[in-house]
Amino acid sequence: MSISLLQKLQDNLGTLDAKGLRRRRRTADGPCAPRVTVDGRPMLAFCSNDYLGLAAHPQVIAALQEGAARYGAGSGASHLISGHSRAHVLLEERLAAFLSPHLPSARALTFSTGYMANLALLSALGGPDTELFSEAVNHASLIDGARLSRSAVRVYPHGDTAVLAAMLAASTAATKLVVTDSVFSMDGDLAPLPALLQLCEHYGAWLVVDDAHGFGVLGAQGRGALEHFALRSPQLVYMGTLGKAAGVAGAFVAAHESVIETLVQRARPYIYTTAAPPALAHALLASLDIIDGAEGRSRRAHLDALVRRFDASLVLRRWRRLPSATPIQPVIIGENQAALAAAAALDARGLWVPAIRPPTVPRGTARLRVTLSAAHGFDDLARLIEALQTLDNPTPPGAPT
Ligand SMILES: *Cc1c(COP(=O)(O)O)cnc(C)c1O
Repeated sequence: MSISLLQKLQDNLGTLDAKGLRRRRRTADGPCAPRVTVDGRPMLAFCSNDYLGLAAHPQVIAALQEGAARYGAGSGASHLISGHSRAHVLLEERLAAFLSPHLPSARALTFSTGYMANLALLSALGGPDTELFSEAVNHASLIDGARLSRSAVRVYPHGDTAVLAAMLAASTAATKLVVTDSVFSMDGDLAPLPALLQLCEHYGAWLVVDDAHGFGVLGAQGRGALEHFALRSPQLVYMGTLGKAAGVAGAFVAAHESVIETLVQRARPYIYTTAAPPALAHALLASLDIIDGAEGRSRRAHLDALVRRFDASLVLRRWRRLPSATPIQPVIIGENQAALAAAAALDARGLWVPAIRPPTVPRGTARLRVTLSAAHGFDDLARLIEALQTLDNPTPPGAPT
């Protein structure tokens, strides 16, 4: 092998180190939970997307085991060959029924991951005759899906419905797609979905909503952002993930049956990949039972109380909060090295909070991304708040500043 090939990679990796941008993986032993052993040390974690604490729920684990006993370990093929099992059908029917108050004539289609669902959705609905209007801070999977779709992409500023309205008014494209996260994954704020839907209905556009962080969490029944805002329209195309609040893995699109049938026929990231293990679908039926039932409601109520306590209690001096009413609670620090130092100082206190740096967030806004879960207690929250305030304000009280 030529030395120069390797040299180039090593130089690039060295540049990442110099800029404080090298990512490192940490190894957890045991299930996803607030109390976890990480690289051999016991830690209190505020970093997972397991918002309802279902990833290690005994009923979900038992259903996964039962699913494996009933359907085996793997699906054996793609959905259109022979990998589509009864468990997938039951899950799709269940999801469509769950979302039906918001999506008339809805069907649902499951995917192995949310990343693939977004690639599938945008590449099948978009094309050279399409203008795709993309919110500025959308998730990477939506950005990649937009590229794969070969649509003309117009980016509108974060939350700016006036600019979007002007763009839609000027568009002559045969198909218009407005694409947005519902809960922005690094900021925790909500997209103005009612205003976006109004614009889409006025200008004849689809509204594609990525509810990765809303499904299971928002709305009284956990139906997500559409329930939170009480929206209903045949022009909505909804994507939810099943590896976050639902605690397992995978994702789904729910939309008008013609949209779903188009995905089955045309979406290459759906067609050319092995179907997810049916046991996962079986486990997800147990997750949905919890999300949809009394236990889900009480878990959401506890999570809400944690979010409100965090919001009311954390007082910062140098660092900055972003307004967020969701379990995603960012603390903006600024420079990459400072964010890494803050995460390291929390780590030394046994608290696991990830530092998020560019390109995931804009330059100069490196941050701690706190995520709260119904599995946390108020005592866990108090420990985190105490540590954050101490690190943010290292001057002892009374000392000259
Ligand atoms: C996590 C996430 C995805 C991807 O979902 P996976 O199932 O993890 O692949 C897509 N969109 C958003 C907004 C996300 O946060």
